[in-house]
Amino acid sequence: MQNQAYFRFYEELNDFLPLEQQKQSFAYDFNGTPSVKDAIEALGVPHTEVDLILINGISVNFDYLLKPADYVSVYPVFESLDISPLVRLRPAPLREVKFVLDVHLGKLARLLRLLGFDSFYRNNLTDEEIIEISTDERRIILTRDRGILKNKTVTHGYFIRNSNPEIQASEVCQRFDLYSRIQPFQRCLNCNGLIQPVKKDKIKEFLLPQTRQAFHEFFQCRNCQQIYWKGSHYQRMQEKIERIIQSKSNL
Ligand SMILES: [Zn+2]
Repeated sequence: MQNQAYFRFYEELNDFLPLEQQKQSFAYDFNGTPSVKDAIEALGVPHTEVDLILINGISVNFDYLLKPADYVSVYPVFESLDISPLVRLRPAPLREVKFVLDVHLGKLARLLRLLGFDSFYRNNLTDEEIIEISTDERRIILTRDRGILKNKTVTHGYFIRNSNPEIQASEVCQRFDLYSRIQPFQRCLNCNGLIQPVKKDKIKEFLLPQTRQAFHEFFQCRNCQQIYWKGSHYQRMQEKIERIIQSKSNL
């Protein structure tokens, strides 16, 4: 016989639900005794998004087994609300914020590097490789593919909502509370390596004549040797950074 429980999802977790299930309680049919984690993921919400589950008003773990007529309230990661008396589901936050990005997020990777955040990206990684890098190097997975976040071994991940790279960068800053940690022009946009000042003499043979003439201050990636200077692209990048910082108040 089929059993029924009732679910209500809060805040941005509603992004994962069809309209008729958003911001209201709805019945969920189940057989046997699924864990509440399995039920939440069957409804389309990756477990990495969930921070608190209340069943009939009492906080439970992911492995709680669903019972008929349970009333389940599911909450996302809270940034500001203090829920310390309740059971938090997320493992402790990673102290150092580092990312590994899914293959479809190349533009976001460059923007996060521009903001100074350690962002591993290659356009040919498999899901398995992304998960392995995340686990081995303690990197948070950023993706628009919720399938990868449902993998059991994934502990830290975030599902990017927007398709516009600049808004995506704002989303990440908001979600991980990174605004105060933005340190632009520290990382190579191409390879994620650290950049440092370099004497013009050392690199002038690689410059175009007009660049050599007009600029005197240069930086170089310690990893791939890419050379940077404050040309017209520098102005455009500064404007981007400014827009992302300004987004704090608009979100
Ligand atoms: Zn580089």
